[in-house]
Amino acid sequence: MAYVINDDCIQCGACEAECPCSAISEGDGKYVIDADTCVDCGSCASVCPVGAPQEG
Ligand code: SF4
Ligand code: SF4
Repeated sequence: MAYVINDDCIQCGACEAECPCSAISEGDGKYVIDADTCVDCGSCASVCPVGAPQEG
């Protein structure tokens, strides 16, 4: 399983800097997680101010 960023994302970029495997990038209107790269550590969810990354 991988984390998924929902539409609450405000594109602050905090999660991208926090991801240990660079699975997060800026997408169209929100940041996105590459499911094949995510190791399910939860760091993105910890730093997100709006709780957008959710366990998939
Ligand atoms: Fe990166 Fe961990 Fe978030 Fe997956 S759960 S996108 S590995 S910070
Ligand atoms: Fe979006 Fe949250 Fe990541 Fe900021 S930390 S870019 S609001 S998912």
